[in-house]
Amino acid sequence: MKVMKFGGTSVGKPERMHQVSQLITKDEEAKIVVLSALSGTTNALVEISNSLSAGNREAAKQKIDALETHYRNFVLELVKEEANRNKANAVVSEHFEFLNIILRISFSEALNKDILAQGELMSTKLFCTYLDEQGIDHMLLPALEFMSIDANEEPQLLPIRNRLNQLLKEHASKKLFITQGYICRNARGEVDNLKRGGSDYTASLIAAAIVGSVCEIWTDIDGMHNNDPRVVNKTVAIEQLSFDEAAELAYFGAKILHPTCIWPAQQENVPVKLLNTMQPEAVGTVITKEAGSVGVKAIAAKDGIIAIKIKSSRMLLAYGFLRKVFEVFEKYRTSIDMITTSEVAVSVTIDTDTALAQITKELEPFGSVEVLKDQTIVSIVGNEIAQTDKVLQKLFNAIQDIPVTMVSYGGSAHNISLLVPGTEKVKTLQVLNEGLFGL
Ligand code: ASP
Ligand code: MG
Repeated sequence: MKVMKFGGTSVGKPERMHQVSQLITKDEEAKIVVLSALSGTTNALVEISNSLSAGNREAAKQKIDALETHYRNFVLELVKEEANRNKANAVVSEHFEFLNIILRISFSEALNKDILAQGELMSTKLFCTYLDEQGIDHMLLPALEFMSIDANEEPQLLPIRNRLNQLLKEHASKKLFITQGYICRNARGEVDNLKRGGSDYTASLIAAAIVGSVCEIWTDIDGMHNNDPRVVNKTVAIEQLSFDEAAELAYFGAKILHPTCIWPAQQENVPVKLLNTMQPEAVGTVITKEAGSVGVKAIAAKDGIIAIKIKSSRMLLAYGFLRKVFEVFEKYRTSIDMITTSEVAVSVTIDTDTALAQITKELEPFGSVEVLKDQTIVSIVGNEIAQTDKVLQKLFNAIQDIPVTMVSYGGSAHNISLLVPGTEKVKTLQVLNEGLFGL
């Protein structure tokens, strides 16, 4: 059995949905198809929720109505027969009635999660009406019946596996299952989600739960690229990556994949394929246990980074200093991305300013604290980079004119990270593209 996940743009237009139905019926293998909300919907739901939490019901109402019009038009093109249009419109009515009811209820975080869930609930149900019209046998598996997160908002594979396998057993005669990405239940049993972009995570969790043959992530580009195609000229798709390389790239900014989505597939050794709905024949990127080849594979960048430098002569020859520093970050549940040290200073980076004020205040007793905002981590990812011929030489030659803030090398054999001012990001990516890939 395999998993096929289609993102927002892959289901964002009626004709795209039609195409998805072709892609999922091409072969005989049983499959679980995971769908995102139609592109733009989750953003619209976030805005509706924001308006409501700000007490602006009128703005929320306007946004709800605009979204409903979008769905009514979508239905017209999605299905042709009257009975199916009625069915699809009934789906739309059900969910927009809900959204209109919440206009009258007082806002809460639980309600916010309910609002955000509407996109995936609608996209899957609408897709099923199209499958009905095409006479394609299928079954809708409600994600809320098996996908869950624990009290720390982490999905646990075992309970997900148990519930999902039970559901599949109950419907053993079916070969095609449709389910929602992104949404789940939390430890309190309420509707919740796997965070923005979380449909990839859903797909990987399902693939691991059923130990699928492959987890296919269908998007609108032809795989993961060697560099950011949005800002760099001449990038190329990478054919093969290891799970570790892909996780680093996703975390450090490759937008094509949700950063946390690698571990479930990796744990059960299910290959992940990144494929392009607009170009289904393209090979895309395959992510497996083995790295395939040695050398630099890709460069990714992560913006909005804050560097914090703690300088103290007390660090000199002292032990326990780093522990005290790291404890402050732990206390405020802030994860550290990059670390560099000298004998009298340690610099770390974080990607959120949520607890920045408290963190700097608690670090001050240890020494002088310097904060640098608007930095970008540029990560060079590959396999056994250190053993690759002249890689450091090429790297430092390429960045001659870049005022680099930090360099981290040696933490793993697969990564070199540079911290540069955000304003230097595009230039850094471009010179590295030339210097490391000759592109
Ligand atoms: N619809 C959700 C989002 O836009 C989840 C996803 O598409 O992966 O974030
Ligand atoms: Mg996505």
